Amino acid sequence: MKKLLLSIFILTTLTNSQNTNETIKYTNFPLPTAIFPVEYDLNITTYLPGYNWKADERNMSYLGSVSIRMEVRQEMDKIVLHSSNLTIIDAKVINSDNNLEIKSWTINDSNQFLILSLNKIVNPGENLEVFITFGGYLREDRKGYYITKSTKPTGEPMINAVTQFEATSARFMVPCFDEPQFKATWQVKLTYPTGAVGLTNTIDMESIEDGDFTSTTYKRTVKMSSYLLAIFVGDVQFKETTTKRGLRIRVYADPKNIESVDMALNASRLAVDGFEELFGIDFPMEKIDFVSVFDFEAGAMENWGLIIHRAELILGTDKEIVEVVIHELAHQWFGNLVTMKYWYQTWLNEGFATFMTAIGQTFIDGNFSQDTFHISQQEEARLKDRYRPLRSVAFDKDGSVTIQSIYYSKGSSFIRMLEKIVGTLNFYEAMRNYLSQNMYSNVKEDYLYSALEAVWKTNTNNETTLSISEFAECWTNQNSYPTVFATRTPEGVVLTQNREAPIEKNYTNYDEWGYKWDIPIWYQVAGEGSHELVWFKKDQYELEIRTEKTIIVNAESYGYYDVIYDDVSYQSIARELENNPTLYSMSTKLRLLLDLESNAYTQMIAPHSLVLIANALRNDEFPIVQEYAQTILKTTEFMINRLNEQNNEDLKIIKGFSTNTSKVLRKFYSNPSEQFGDYFKRNFKSDKEFCETLRNERNEEVTNQLVDWLNTNDSSGRKHIMGFLMFCAKNKDKVRGLVFDPSFDWTALEKSRNIQFLKILNRRNIYETREFRKFPSNEEYISRKTIIRIES
Ligand SMILES: [Zn+2]
Repeated sequence: MKKLLLSIFILTTLTNSQNTNETIKYTNFPLPTAIFPVEYDLNITTYLPGYNWKADERNMSYLGSVSIRMEVRQEMDKIVLHSSNLTIIDAKVINSDNNLEIKSWTINDSNQFLILSLNKIVNPGENLEVFITFGGYLREDRKGYYITKSTKPTGEPMINAVTQFEATSARFMVPCFDEPQFKATWQVKLTYPTGAVGLTNTIDMESIEDGDFTSTTYKRTVKMSSYLLAIFVGDVQFKETTTKRGLRIRVYADPKNIESVDMALNASRLAVDGFEELFGIDFPMEKIDFVSVFDFEAGAMENWGLIIHRAELILGTDKEIVEVVIHELAHQWFGNLVTMKYWYQTWLNEGFATFMTAIGQTFIDGNFSQDTFHISQQEEARLKDRYRPLRSVAFDKDGSVTIQSIYYSKGSSFIRMLEKIVGTLNFYEAMRNYLSQNMYSNVKEDYLYSALEAVWKTNTNNETTLSISEFAECWTNQNSYPTVFATRTPEGVVLTQNREAPIEKNYTNYDEWGYKWDIPIWYQVAGEGSHELVWFKKDQYELEIRTEKTIIVNAESYGYYDVIYDDVSYQSIARELENNPTLYSMSTKLRLLLDLESNAYTQMIAPHSLVLIANALRNDEFPIVQEYAQTILKTTEFMINRLNEQNNEDLKIIKGFSTNTSKVLRKFYSNPSEQFGDYFKRNFKSDKEFCETLRNERNEEVTNQLVDWLNTNDSSGRKHIMGFLMFCAKNKDKVRGLVFDPSFDWTALEKSRNIQFLKILNRRNIYETREFRKFPSNEEYISRKTIIRIES
């Protein structure tokens, strides 16, 4: 699945973290593992309005029947499935001896179970078949089987039906074993009003029209998890292409928008060709369909062979469309073919789909920079890396699961470290093995680590004792990320790592791992064009690199950690960057700037170092580095002017950078115009409530009203309104548009202020203050000190 918050390029438009109210509720109701499904036969009749049949009381409902052939693995006297909010009409069971019946069935709402109690105990090896008939109304909450609205070219409204099952909503449409590890095949038959299009994961085999309704039977799927089943019924058209080896790809959209699917169609063709070659495994079914829908909770969903997209992420020519298409296609291997054992491993799905999006984009655009993509994932992860570890699940009270945004960017950034530790060629060889060894089954993290270790050790004759699973534990089981301190001594550079955890509201600590990490240190010595890797283990007190030369830590930005140097080191790095600029890569320089900026804002370093390095890079050969360095310098200058400081000595002024930033931001709220104030008092209890209203995407009305007011209010009112729009409106792009909209009568002063505040907004989101909770000091972790000597 692709969350709606997309990774957007770091320097321009980082948006807010979306999970500010997460709390962890450990409620989990796993199914018993005594009985496993093998094959499902599913029939669904959907009653959609807008076609020839005369809509009656069945309108907007569906009727279903499912037969599930299953195998018994342990003695059991009941069959437990998931089912929620369904009307169960009838349930029957048969076995080969014909002596089995269902005594009674119960629906347990609190854990979403349908429990079929049997008249006798069934034994391992027995095969059973259950028949259930059921029905329900099409939902309106974008979960399970639900209504999505659209408009016909004539302007009439149109209602379609679509599914969204991940994580735990298949049970809202059909009683099933709704956990990833219960893989089975599905044969689907759909009945729908004649004239509509019916789609599911596989290609259609036979259609029979019977008056007002048509029934289509589709090919049986490969073995898959229930959350990947998908259905669409409605009024759509398609455009089609085929891959090199002849795989059919279609993009479906409403008739009005069908001409806007070419970009998605071409990107998907190239991406499938590229992934099949890279992974060495062909897509295993006969077709891939994409469908555009207007009501969709996530960005898109990777249902095997039937990928559903939110309309704006498939129609048109926006760059994000390509990214989302590739993400969903990467899932066809990472997630669909090889699936997590349970929701604890969801980060494997999302981390890999995100990671593979980088290489996937190179299939379409040979100049695409994977490095920049990975850096932007690291930045997005740092924003969100507070609340929960990668290896965690967010359960609702009823046991349903929601997918967390940290799985994507941090998952990808962690996988990037694995790639760089074992080497890119080894990494992809290991990925091919991992996929082929685990296809059609489920994996835990260890399956991945042993695939990597096997290739790494074979190909490099590596005698290292480093275990990848040991390394991975501290990265996947605790939230946050390490900060490495690099201090210059007469002999060399001494590295230490922080033993502190960030303090956040609603934040749970994962103390077991002590907030220490095994850190791969990639460093580059001055005067050399390449980098080295050494390990800073979690039980080491410090790591000393003995050299008189300047070194840059986390060269190439391979590592997911912060580096903070002392003043002397920043001065020598600045000199080095000016003297030998071509020896350092774009990634190395960007990483330096990003670490500096975040730590200057949170006052972890003296902010003049930020100015020093930004200044050294202000005319850098890489446009992106140059632009970023200049933006930093301009923002700094702006802050200085804004604060009306007469004394331009940078250290003194920027010292209060972060406090003053928030002070300036608060000024926006402190002086509302009367008109605005009246409205505000009438409608909202507090700033917070107002902000929440603006953040709610559906409340366009308030946003529009504010936009109207921008032209009618006096200057202070305009300032106040714009402030609210910038900081609270969910659709920041719309607000950004306002700043540059020529129809707005901005004064020169207002315009420049708006632009400057947009910049602050971008940065503020990155660098919300980090506070730290003290953990035991370094000394308590002393076991050994490692010294690495570099011959000069
Ligand atoms: Zn995904």
